[in-house]
Amino acid sequence: MIDLNLIREARERIGGIVKKTPVMTSETISKDFGNELFFKCEHLQKTGAFKIRGASNKVIQEFQRNTKHVIAASSGNHGQAVAYIANQLGICSTIVIPEDAAACKRDAIKAYNGNIEICGTTSEERIERAKQISEDGKAVFIPPYDDPLIMAGQGTAGLEIVEQVDDIDEVYVPIGGGGLISGVAAAIKESNPGIRVIGVEPAIANDTYLSFKQGKRFNIGGSITIADGLRTSIPGELTFPVVQRYVDDIVLVDEESIKEAFIYVLMRMKQVIEPSGAVSVAGAMKRNPGSKRIVALISGGNVDTDFIPKLLK
Ligand SMILES: *Cc1c(COP(=O)(O)O)cnc(C)c1O
Repeated sequence: MIDLNLIREARERIGGIVKKTPVMTSETISKDFGNELFFKCEHLQKTGAFKIRGASNKVIQEFQRNTKHVIAASSGNHGQAVAYIANQLGICSTIVIPEDAAACKRDAIKAYNGNIEICGTTSEERIERAKQISEDGKAVFIPPYDDPLIMAGQGTAGLEIVEQVDDIDEVYVPIGGGGLISGVAAAIKESNPGIRVIGVEPAIANDTYLSFKQGKRFNIGGSITIADGLRTSIPGELTFPVVQRYVDDIVLVDEESIKEAFIYVLMRMKQVIEPSGAVSVAGAMKRNPGSKRIVALISGGNVDTDFIPKLLK
């Protein structure tokens, strides 16, 4: 379990690295939608996604223990974040990425001096390979979500949300492995238990939804959702109990509505976000509680330019 203290400590530790991202609003959107909608803009975070929060919390601790080489398995954003913070600290990073990783994510890892290792398509394959490489004892594996320091780092976004927006009714958060939502939900619920935290998953990547309903972790065996940050097949061993404890509900959204949310944010907010980042907006629109003050956490903005036309169709 993680708690508010661990999240506050994370904020201290990573304060010099991560940005306090802005919250955006749009009167037209709120009026159309019939709720007051606030967007927490993690697509404007360093490296273009919230992942730098957890990664820097973990890697800084490793650095202080004299670790010289970190390794990550990631479809992109976590790898990018680990490479970025390692580079800042002057240590070495190796990132294991899937065959189909977006080119912009690959290029960013290279720009941060990360070594790239290509392996398979599922997160299990990548994590296995990364752990293998770290077994020589020289490199330390930095998990993408299933680690208290990672969860606590991601939770710092939750601390900011409760400070930036008054009288919140509901917060919508996308779910992949559950690191983001477990940290954010712990931060929010322990600050103000009255705020509802709603998880959002693509309907074709509904591992946490099914696990949540059944009360135990369930493996869906992979997914091909356009929200590539949410393709995990099973919730984390450590994240899932936190989700069970703090998350109020989980909504599923179809692929079409993720695209619609992307277009909506692009045209109305003039912001470019990635499909995984659009999922929370799609979830808020779908569940639409009516006349509430709602925060949608836009988790990232790293979308390949080649991919944008597919989202517009
Ligand atoms: C990793 C990621 C997520 C999912 O986060 P988890 O901690 O795995 O649940 C959502 N959106 C983006 C943009 C991501 O990079």
